[in-house]
Amino acid sequence: MLIVQKFGGTSVGDLERIQNVANRVSESKKAGNDVVVVVSAMSGETNKLVGYAEHFSKNPAQAEMDMLLSAGERVTASLLSIALQEMGHSATAMTGRKAGIVTDKHHTKARIEEINPEVMQSALKEGKIIVVAGFQGVNANGDVTTLGRGGSDLSAVAIAGALQADLCEIYTDVSGIYTTDPRIEPKAKKLEKISYDEMLELASLGAKVLQNRSVEMAKKLNVNLVTRTSFSNEEGTLITKEENIMEAPLVSGIALDRNQARISLMGVKDRPGIASDIFNKLAAAEVNVDMIIQNKAHDGATNIDFTVPVDDLHDAKSIVDGFVQDGEIEADSYNEDICKVSVVGVGMRSHTGVAARAFATMADNNININMISTSEIKISMVIDEKYAELAVRGLHDTYELDK
Ligand code: ADP
Ligand code: ASP
Ligand code: MG
Repeated sequence: MLIVQKFGGTSVGDLERIQNVANRVSESKKAGNDVVVVVSAMSGETNKLVGYAEHFSKNPAQAEMDMLLSAGERVTASLLSIALQEMGHSATAMTGRKAGIVTDKHHTKARIEEINPEVMQSALKEGKIIVVAGFQGVNANGDVTTLGRGGSDLSAVAIAGALQADLCEIYTDVSGIYTTDPRIEPKAKKLEKISYDEMLELASLGAKVLQNRSVEMAKKLNVNLVTRTSFSNEEGTLITKEENIMEAPLVSGIALDRNQARISLMGVKDRPGIASDIFNKLAAAEVNVDMIIQNKAHDGATNIDFTVPVDDLHDAKSIVDGFVQDGEIEADSYNEDICKVSVVGVGMRSHTGVAARAFATMADNNININMISTSEIKISMVIDEKYAELAVRGLHDTYELDK
């Protein structure tokens, strides 16, 4: 079997844990498998590097940020390879560039365009264990790029796809995908299986256990993806096609995204094309706009509210301020003290009343809903951040996810 094993920050959080990972990889190799390992930076390391840059600048150049942040993963890849060699294995550490990961030019959230797997393939042929530094690639200019926070998951899935691996295992600090974040709701239950679509919604809506683009890629390339813990042999959760899951529950999980901000535009000129102008500019700057609400216009002006990830707020602000300066918008304001709670489940397609129960749960807990959006398999609500955990636990109870 060819297995890709990805180890997250906590799993490589100190030297002893890196040795633990080496032991696990060694066992897989000795069992007769070909193994490609993808590693994250040691836990806290990427944030520490971001902090260093912020010491010098509020808005550091993104090319420099990529060169800085990609260093964390190189440290762990090298150390793990050294540990494996010391155990008698033939191992080789690779940067994203050497592993053939080519991305677009968008620094700090680059997309993988292609993977040239030849170098990895010949190393595997020589019987080597490959240890790839996750989260990074190289663009057409030869500059190092990073794949967005949590992006080592994407490195692993993309490599598994390119090498047509039999299995991609994501090792983390919880034993699988739970009905909600087990750190918020201790009654959360581990799921045996979950569909790509539901996992993609959960990940996109804030469940950081898998990076959303990694799930999207796994679905596209049909990668067998398992999430499990590196601290025991407990079985994890399989992320798979919907048809492989016999009994789809009504609701599979609750997600929480604390990383959202709300932008309110007051007195927006009510003319054809204004929304297109604003949101095209935001899209061109790669600002990820989520919920949008436009009120009924009066006196030739309207109000538009929308949400963006906090990380995109700086870029969004400067674009919106431009429209204010041009007199197209009277005023704007920002609120970072919000969060988004979401209920996800494919069962919603065929059942009614799921949304009504979510709203009733907020009402019972005296939580005001600021914004709502729904799709075929999810309901999202924006609420004040201070009610985040209360809302998650309330919804978890409402849909009896602990049963
Ligand atoms: P890693 O460093 O291994 O990539 P992350 O911190 O990115 O790990 O993701 C693991 C964390 O995701 C868990 O510790 C848990 O708190 C959080 N999490 C959020 N939602 C879920 C969920 N539905 N199931 C499991 N873990 C979740
Ligand atoms: N080290 C990077 C981060 O913290 C990538 C990853 O861990 O997946 O975002
Ligand atoms: Mg992660």
